[in-house]
Amino acid sequence: MKAMVLHRVAPVETRPLSWEEVDLPAPRDHEVLVRVDVCGVCRTDLHVVEGDLPPLLPSIVPGHEIVGRIERVGGKVRELSLGEAVGVPWLHRTCGRCEYCISGRENLCVRKEFTGYSANGGYAEYAIGEEGFVLPLPAGDPAKCAPFLCAGIIGYRAFKLAQPRPGGRIGFFGFGGSAHLTLQLAARLGFETVAYSRNPVHLELATRLGASETVLTSQPPRSATRSHLDGAIVFAPTGTVVIEALRELKKGGTLAIAAIHLSPIPEIDYDHLLFGERRIVSVEANTRADAREFLDLAGRLGLESSVTVRPLREANEALTDLREGRVTGAAVLDCRA
Ligand SMILES: [Zn+2]
Ligand SMILES: [Zn+2]
Repeated sequence: MKAMVLHRVAPVETRPLSWEEVDLPAPRDHEVLVRVDVCGVCRTDLHVVEGDLPPLLPSIVPGHEIVGRIERVGGKVRELSLGEAVGVPWLHRTCGRCEYCISGRENLCVRKEFTGYSANGGYAEYAIGEEGFVLPLPAGDPAKCAPFLCAGIIGYRAFKLAQPRPGGRIGFFGFGGSAHLTLQLAARLGFETVAYSRNPVHLELATRLGASETVLTSQPPRSATRSHLDGAIVFAPTGTVVIEALRELKKGGTLAIAAIHLSPIPEIDYDHLLFGERRIVSVEANTRADAREFLDLAGRLGLESSVTVRPLREANEALTDLREGRVTGAAVLDCRA
């Protein structure tokens, strides 16, 4: 099969992913082989390719927003069948035995594996998924489903962790693939939503998706505090944005950081930005319950992904566009030959 393979981490503009013919993987007992239709491009893939996340294997096929159909099943697979449409997400497998797994916090499992990081992912014609971790998908265009599988699910977990009061005001800092789905979800659930971005084109999308207010952020950031948000989510992988968000957060509010990697957070002025029982919480992966809840909500609320589709061979270019802020909504790779 064809795949885009990473052998050595490097800046994306040096085209570190190479287009190769590799062996078709064989599913083990509890695994399925999925013929990949499309795979979403997530910022985490950028961190894998550029080495912000340390390499775990000598080579890796990235990609963890996989939409496809089951083509082969392992000998002990019971719940899944050939031809079924499934999604293969970031959470590839957990141990089921550690203190986190047995207390309903499998997202923190100490032995968890990740699709497209510790196991080969979906920048390929075929990928492996584990029974119990692959997800049923809402009907519809596979390309529009792909961003649900990480951008949507992680955004939903961040939204829950930000704990805005019902009908409250929630801020979205960095308006990419995840924020564009999470803002829609919040707006349709009756929250007031405020989108923050340095890119006016991204804010136009936010307005179309129902944002109550948009804020074009400046460089350097404003120093005034506004304290009008009940909750906030930082999607940008940038520590200075955490300070911008704290300036907007009310007393008692929670700021959730939905980033797997963040540049250093500058010094926080405790008296003005944290005192008043403001909270900061990071978001690590998701549980399968988060995934099921989000996919159900996405279907019922009619969430719409805004996507740019490119052929699999252009994965390096798609990642470069993502890093440079040139993707509005989410980028998706078409993996059908
Ligand atoms: Zn575990
Ligand atoms: Zn992701």
